[in-house]
Amino acid sequence: MTKPLFQFDNTYARELPGFYVDWKGAEVPQPELALFNQDLAASLGLNGAELETEAGARIFAGVDSPEGAAPLAQVYAGHQFGGFSPQLGDGRALLIGEIVDPEGQRRDIQLKGSGRTPFSRGGDGKAVLGPVLREYVIGEAMHALGIPTTRALAAVTTGERVYREGPKPGAVLARVAASHLRIGTFQYFAARQETDKVRQLADYAIHRHDPDLVSADGKYLKFFSRVIERQAALVANWVLVGFVHGVMNTDNTTISGETIDYGPCAFLDAYDPAAVFSSIDHGGRYAFGRQPVILQWNLARLAEAILALINPDDLDKAVEQVTEELNRFPDLYRAQWLNGMRQKLGLKSEDAADQKLAEDLLALMADSGADYTLVFRTLADAATGNSQGLKAQISDLAAIEEWLARWTDRLSLEEAGPDVIATQMNAVNPLYIPRNHLVEYALEQAEAGDLAPVRKLLEAVTAPYEARDGFEDFTQPAPENFGPYTTYCGT
Ligand code: AMP
Ligand code: MG
Ligand code: MG
Repeated sequence: MTKPLFQFDNTYARELPGFYVDWKGAEVPQPELALFNQDLAASLGLNGAELETEAGARIFAGVDSPEGAAPLAQVYAGHQFGGFSPQLGDGRALLIGEIVDPEGQRRDIQLKGSGRTPFSRGGDGKAVLGPVLREYVIGEAMHALGIPTTRALAAVTTGERVYREGPKPGAVLARVAASHLRIGTFQYFAARQETDKVRQLADYAIHRHDPDLVSADGKYLKFFSRVIERQAALVANWVLVGFVHGVMNTDNTTISGETIDYGPCAFLDAYDPAAVFSSIDHGGRYAFGRQPVILQWNLARLAEAILALINPDDLDKAVEQVTEELNRFPDLYRAQWLNGMRQKLGLKSEDAADQKLAEDLLALMADSGADYTLVFRTLADAATGNSQGLKAQISDLAAIEEWLARWTDRLSLEEAGPDVIATQMNAVNPLYIPRNHLVEYALEQAEAGDLAPVRKLLEAVTAPYEARDGFEDFTQPAPENFGPYTTYCGT
């Protein structure tokens, strides 16, 4: 007897009947692996050699179900751009099963683009190669930047033509997540006033993500507090690296605190708090600088969904309790952000003026449309006395001189000297991010049949800090003629 490819242990399927439908992937003409993530496979304890094969391609396309899988489509609801949709669900995704990695961490393996499900509404249930590779690359970049995220295990082409704006190569993404529990999963059952199911889901989530709370007093409020803390840290991390998620609907907000659903996301080139890339975000609801506020709004929707669990006998009291928790969010966020910003500025100690120092630099960057990523790398050079690179990016020379003088004074309070500080800064400020023009180029080439550029981009962004020969082009801002960048959802 050969060992199964996955040691599945499917708690969602087993413990939550009524929260999903059993389903299977659609047939496709020709499943072929485009990318396979051997590093991730190894860290999951999977046999990468047996999976980076034709058999693996069929599994990750959703055509073959591996031994022990219990493929299913999850139901959920969600606020999309502020309006409530009572039923969304996996319209093109299948949870094929859960595994427990060698560290004891439970992981979902989910396919995205594996065909229609009962939750597809008007959609075709498919995905196309460009966006699949985009999610792969950006997710791996986020992981390398130390930001909690779902990760791509494989990208498969299906041999099918999928119609978007014209025919495109069909593809499926296999991704790994701490879970696919969303704020919207709670909202689905709360909106139907199925309080028992909301409680069952909360108990499941607590068991899975906050097991130390299983027998705690007031566990549902504490659980809520944990989600707030994870999400405050997550959104601070996004802001610190200049990431714009683009579609922060409540169905795309996880309970685990992982980034999920890389649709119209992008990294900032020029620093601009109002930056919006998504073609459908006309009001700028999910603009770069609005992400913390929106996250807090989403958490309020989770609060509403679990209110009846918090204090079943006294809902007014429950409202007070969740409000008190929600009100902690701005400070939690601010502390995380400031902590990260100190590191970006080379500061280990704390000074009351640090926040102002950081904000003043950001204001100068905004005025000049300076490249967010490059500014922090050139700032490390300025720590050792070479401020030319930084000054080239800021138009108000007097203002940047004044700022540099203040920063240099502030650095003198640090124990470390300039060289050590510069090294520390370069260890937290990435040099290689998935820049929009690089991503677009790599995806265009992939769609035309050449995967080399996407592989090279992956190589760059998965080791983001250390400068390497042969990657010089990957550090530069978009060329002038790249123009304004627009991204698209649901593709
Ligand atoms: P999103 O906000 O893009 O993550 O997706 C919102 C909802 O639309 C989810 O329920 C998805 O499953 C569904 N969806 C997105 N694209 C498709 C598609 N091509 N076919 C079916 N459902 C889709
Ligand atoms: Mg989604
Ligand atoms: Mg999506």
